[in-house]
Amino acid sequence: MSNATFSEIAQALREHNSFIIMSHVRPDGDAIGSQLALGHALEEMGKTVHYINEDGLPENLAFLPHSDRIVQPQGEELDVEVAIALDCATKPRLGDNALKAASKAKLWINMDHHKSNPGYGDLNFIDSSSPATGQILYNFITAEGLPLSDVTRDSIYVAVSTDTGSFQYSGTTVETYEMAADLVRRGLDVGGINAKTYDSHPYRRVELTRRLLNTLEMADDGRLADWRLVYKTQEELGLKPEDSEGLIDMIRAIQGVEIAVFFEELQDGQIRVSMRSKNKAVDVCEVAKMFGGGGHTLAAGIRTEGTLEGVREQVLAELRKRLDACA
Ligand code: 5GP
Ligand code: MN
Ligand code: MN
Repeated sequence: MSNATFSEIAQALREHNSFIIMSHVRPDGDAIGSQLALGHALEEMGKTVHYINEDGLPENLAFLPHSDRIVQPQGEELDVEVAIALDCATKPRLGDNALKAASKAKLWINMDHHKSNPGYGDLNFIDSSSPATGQILYNFITAEGLPLSDVTRDSIYVAVSTDTGSFQYSGTTVETYEMAADLVRRGLDVGGINAKTYDSHPYRRVELTRRLLNTLEMADDGRLADWRLVYKTQEELGLKPEDSEGLIDMIRAIQGVEIAVFFEELQDGQIRVSMRSKNKAVDVCEVAKMFGGGGHTLAAGIRTEGTLEGVREQVLAELRKRLDACA
């Protein structure tokens, strides 16, 4: 798969009038931020844009301007010429109803930073050296002279800030900081947007943290940390999928920990695994792929059938094997 150029993609956008913009299930800040950033640029160009996400808009991102335009599809087919998938490593991760909504599109554009993305679009732009899809879109929008409205500015900032752990992870580049400086120069309210992104957690998230801490287990001489969440606890606390977003960083940050893992029982009975590595020698994306998941070298995830304990045992065994190999 080879990438299209920015100008080929921009030309395709200019030549068409109706778009569906999608991202992955259980959307994070980069997913929703990317959808809004590019979608609003297209609207400023006079295009018709449908913002579709299989799981709708998470409550914690509802502060983003224009986010009320994100719609959860109900099985309808939309009359659109072009489908755009952003920050989504595989086509099925867009979700069944979102795919149905996009089924009439005759051109697919796929822009992403997941190295496991196979390039399922007609026009692809996959850059795994970029720490967020939002940063790719910033490069694209500025290089091609597309409109960069306040909505697009704020959405790009949140996309990149959330995917880089507030500009901390090692994937954060010179371009990331230069981009952030430019967004501030364009009028971004730094204190305001960070407060809305990071200092507005619902109380139930603290209760969730307490429950998770009770399940914390350390293995491999403190190099491997994991915690887990059963569905019953989610019901008890009335949790929403986004409530656990980023909590894994707490155990990833423990001194000596090289791999952190979060196991979660989902409502549909599937198990979701979230993995973080501080050690480039242990590529969690490779482990994720063994179980049908994907992601990045240092952050990856899985959704799979099985029991929480069964999946946990298999995934931890695989991780321990790799940790021991680079002891
Ligand atoms: P998180 O742990 O924050 O949910 O996800 C970490 C990274 O792995 C993200 O970039 C995310 O897109 C990717 N990822 C998470 N779960 C899955 C999955 O089930 N399949 C694939 N292909 N990627 C995933
Ligand atoms: Mn994402
Ligand atoms: Mn991303």
